[in-house]
Amino acid sequence: MQLLIDRILKDGSVKPGNILKVDSFLNHRIDITLYNEIGKEFARLFEGERINKILTIEASGIGIACIAAQYFDNSPVVFAKKAKSQNVDGGMYTSMVESFTYGRGYDILVSKKFIGAEDRVLLIDDFLANGSALYGLIDIVKQSGATLCGAGIVIEKGFQGGGDKIRAMGVNVQSLAIIEKMDEHGIVFRANGDK
Ligand code: 5GP
Repeated sequence: MQLLIDRILKDGSVKPGNILKVDSFLNHRIDITLYNEIGKEFARLFEGERINKILTIEASGIGIACIAAQYFDNSPVVFAKKAKSQNVDGGMYTSMVESFTYGRGYDILVSKKFIGAEDRVLLIDDFLANGSALYGLIDIVKQSGATLCGAGIVIEKGFQGGGDKIRAMGVNVQSLAIIEKMDEHGIVFRANGDK
C-alpha cells in the first residue's frame, strides 16, 4: 500500500534490535485518516470472505481492528488479552506468545463466549515479525472451531520470516507493507508488499 510505504519512509525510524518505530502515526499517536485507508484496503483484500468477526491482540491491534471493522459490516472486534500469570479459568481459550519487543513470553486469553464455530474470523495486527503473536491468535481460532479467513497485517518485517512460515501453513496473510531489509541507512520494501 503506497500511502503506508510513503508514510513509513517519511516518519518511521529504525532502532537498534531490528525495531521499526512508527509511533508518530501508527501505535502511539494515531493518524485516523491513515487507519481508515488501512481498513478500506483490508476490506478490499478480503472481499467475499464473509467475515463476521475480527480478532486482534492488545494493545496496538485494537484501534486498527475497530476502524477496519466498519468496512466489514461493523463486525464485532474481539481482542486477546495478555496475561502474566496462569490463573485462567475454563471459560477461556489460551495460547503462549513469545514477545518480540519485550523479550519474554506471556499468555493470551480470549473468552469462549466471544468466538465459536459459527464465526468466520479475520485476524488483524499492527506488526508481524517472528510470527509468535499471530501463531497464538491462529491457535485460538483453531481451539474455537471457527473458520480462519486470513490475517491482515499493517507492517510485516519479512526478513524475520514469520509471515512466510505462516503463509506456508496455508493461511492467507496479507501485509500492507513488507520490509525486506532495514538499517540506519534506510528501509527496503518487498516489491509485492506494495499492493
Ligand atoms: P512477532 O510475534 O511476530 O515476533 O511480533 C509481533 C508483535 O511484536 C506485534 O504485535 C508488535 O506489537 C511487536 N513488534 C514486532 N516488531 C516490531 C517493530 O519493529 N516495531 C514495533 N513498534 N513493534 C513490533
